[in-house]
Amino acid sequence: MLIIGIDDTDSERGFCTTYLAAVLIERLRASGYHVCTPKLVRLNPCARYKTRGNAAIAIPVEAEDPESIGQTALDTLLELSDLSGINTNPGLVIAERVTEEMRQFYRRAVTEILEIEEAKGILTAEGIWHRGFKNQRGLIGALAAVGSEFDDSTYELIAYRRRELWGTPRSLDEDSIWEADRATYPATWDTVDYSNRRIVFSPHSPDPVLFGIRGDDPDAIRRAFSMIRSEAPERCVMYVTNQGTDAHIIDMRGRDTCLNDDRSYRLRGSVAGKPRAIEGGHVFFPIDVGGRKIECAAFEPTKCFRKIVRSLIPGDLIEVYGSMKSSTLNLEKIDIISMEKQRRSRPPLCACGRRMESAGAGQGYRCRRCRTRSIEAEVLELSRDIEEGLYEVPPSARRHLAKPLVRMRDPRAHPSR
Ligand code: ATP
Repeated sequence: MLIIGIDDTDSERGFCTTYLAAVLIERLRASGYHVCTPKLVRLNPCARYKTRGNAAIAIPVEAEDPESIGQTALDTLLELSDLSGINTNPGLVIAERVTEEMRQFYRRAVTEILEIEEAKGILTAEGIWHRGFKNQRGLIGALAAVGSEFDDSTYELIAYRRRELWGTPRSLDEDSIWEADRATYPATWDTVDYSNRRIVFSPHSPDPVLFGIRGDDPDAIRRAFSMIRSEAPERCVMYVTNQGTDAHIIDMRGRDTCLNDDRSYRLRGSVAGKPRAIEGGHVFFPIDVGGRKIECAAFEPTKCFRKIVRSLIPGDLIEVYGSMKSSTLNLEKIDIISMEKQRRSRPPLCACGRRMESAGAGQGYRCRRCRTRSIEAEVLELSRDIEEGLYEVPPSARRHLAKPLVRMRDPRAHPSR
């Protein structure tokens, strides 16, 4: 078995690495090779040079030596890459086996920022067939894809457009999409966003993707596909993927809080200040994690999720999931573990039935009518307008790798659909 890894072939102007892979799969099959389910491998969502979702592809093929399929892969890459893109630096890797070092490289590529030289070092040391173009950055993703091993996985069926339609508006029957979602959710997810009344499974960019249906069950995905009315796709590919698995999240519970930008974390701490909204609708609040204050943010595109964040009060014990950018954790999910009691104090009632008034700063309270005094205020316990449990950003703001709560099978989860 050989594994072909491909990355960094497209630009904002067009093409898509998954489309290139789809065409290559067809060509390999036409040449008589047995191709197993391809992998759509998402890498660190904070990587600087990504075009969109930091995707790389691995294609397992039953073949003997890399040279036998290398030329087909190379020809397809050169034909379907946008080599003129400033940030397009294709990488192609064909490995005969997956070693522990390659698996480690994948785990780090999904959580850390890596260097081109490191990828080249492993490829040379392990004697792996590879070709890199321009600055060869694509070798990072191509090697990581080949080395990928998923602890958890989901599926995505991607339908691609006919070439003559690329760059034109996509023709999709919206009613059939909502219907397909109703019929197959929760085995499929992130097709639509109910809270924002939007269809989210289809891009608006000029690339060849018509739409992608995500889910846990390939049969349910196929059923949803059969229900959707749209322009006729040119081709479709079902990928197994690490999307929706939180593979990018580093669990920091019980560990020293040494956090770096461009990595994604799960942290446990207590809310250390009132959430505040700033211009543009972004909401910020600090949490105390082992004595260290960390700023958390729910940005405007997270829409209704910000209402949950605004309901937090100091003392709430929470877990947060998200990526560190400029020393601020950009929230993807939040788990409210226990809530502080929310209290309000007011002047006490006097024995005469009248409510006392403040007697001045630090002076307690006094009844105007009968002159009775009191030091103690009356403390009221207010009800909280949220309940404990897990909350997430809506599908329209979801990161590819973020595990949707519908997959958590946790009775405390409040999935955003
Ligand atoms: P698309 O999703 O449309 O295929 P993309 O968002 O995947 O595009 P690429 O064009 O593949 O973006 O560019 C991402 C680049 O970043 C690639 O060169 C890839 O090798 C590199 N890269 C991926 N993960 C990391 C990482 N962890 N550290 C450093 N570089 C990375």
